[in-house]
Amino acid sequence: MTGINSNYGYMYRQRSQEEAEIGYLLATLASAAVLKALPSFSNPFEKQMKKEWANNALYKDAFIKSISNSGLDKVGVKLMHVPSGITDPKLLDVARGLNAFYTPDAKQVFLNADKATIAGFHELGHAMNHLKSKTGKFLQSFRRPGYAIAGLMGTVALFSRSKPKDAKRNVFDFVQDNCGKIAFAAMLPTVIEESMASYKGIKLAKQAGLSDALVKNLRKFYGKALLSYGGYALLIGFSTFIASKITEIFTRPKKIEY
Ligand SMILES: [Zn+2]
Repeated sequence: MTGINSNYGYMYRQRSQEEAEIGYLLATLASAAVLKALPSFSNPFEKQMKKEWANNALYKDAFIKSISNSGLDKVGVKLMHVPSGITDPKLLDVARGLNAFYTPDAKQVFLNADKATIAGFHELGHAMNHLKSKTGKFLQSFRRPGYAIAGLMGTVALFSRSKPKDAKRNVFDFVQDNCGKIAFAAMLPTVIEESMASYKGIKLAKQAGLSDALVKNLRKFYGKALLSYGGYALLIGFSTFIASKITEIFTRPKKIEY
């Protein structure tokens, strides 16, 4: 289809179905390739986690103290020990001593207390954010919608551009033009809340008398955990941006001057 505007001396050529299809394919491949880098942000975390299993008894002692020192036990926070061998898919990584999490609904910290208590201080930090900090709780409320919005931007990036570059923009065009930035921004509250949780967790560990050497380990470990969140936010933003640019190149009506 060709639209001719004789007044201005140019015309727009709408893109063909084939161009749109090639654009879709390349955009999808490019964003998948970018996301391939994701494990490189979380591998250092997992590596140190395994090393720290050997120090678990020391971390565990300080962790148990921290539950009462923080006053979190008085507001109903409980440890849920997930032993090795549990096969529930939702708890598999926790049972293997590779992860831990806090559930605000039940106020429970899930971790394998025989292996991975090092992760527990950070989870207590999440509980502090949830139960003792307005800012923390506010930031936590963005977690689910943040992931949802970031995912949605990945889809928006792949929608064809029907308008020429210099056409008047509406709200949807704005979202489409900025989908990479929006995806990144949607993840930021979560990254900030994660960093707050680690900060509070390290403070609790110190108060509970964890040795300086292990506090140093803890700091490094939480730094790597944050890197995996920050890395996710960056990559999701970047992969959305790349997908959006490629889609634009292949689907935006082309201006032909004459
Ligand atoms: Zn966390």
